[in-house]
Amino acid sequence: MPFGISLDLQQMSGALIAIVSILAAIATALWISLIIWTFRDMRARSRDVFAQVLAALVVAVLNIPGLLVYLILRPRETLTEQYERALEEEALLQEIEGRSVCAGCGHAVKDAWRLCPFCHTKLKKPCLQCGELLELPWTICPFCEQTQVDETAQAHRTRVAPEYDRFEDASEVPLALDDEV
Ligand SMILES: [Zn+2]
Ligand SMILES: [Zn+2]
Repeated sequence: MPFGISLDLQQMSGALIAIVSILAAIATALWISLIIWTFRDMRARSRDVFAQVLAALVVAVLNIPGLLVYLILRPRETLTEQYERALEEEALLQEIEGRSVCAGCGHAVKDAWRLCPFCHTKLKKPCLQCGELLELPWTICPFCEQTQVDETAQAHRTRVAPEYDRFEDASEVPLALDDEV
């Protein structure tokens, strides 16, 4: 330093250097914490390690604009939120599946009903031995092990057997076949 500089100026520049270094320290701390925050935030949203590191790198290189880019592009949900949503959807699905619906008209029907009161579609058949209501495709009673659950169905099945061969998948068999009896 040249000797011509006055004490005041030296003091001032010293204070300035102190302020600048404090600001620099704060900025650095902020920068590092932003990187850590981004890395943690991304880790909560994605299991992909590459994506976690990439997000932290973007913020490390671009700072605040990088953080903005990250905030815009980051996955909307955290993994916990995703998991909770999946649970909710599954519960909803079970609720829907648990509710019986008439195959003929789509009206909600009760499990104890034998036919649909709206369109007269046959919904259930009673077991010939124990009288419990059975699903139409069942060929054995799960309550009393009776195999002759429905004599009309038995006759019906032998009659339309050649027809069934046309369908590779049992689910393709038209539902209307039952109505012909
Ligand atoms: Zn119906
Ligand atoms: Zn039975």
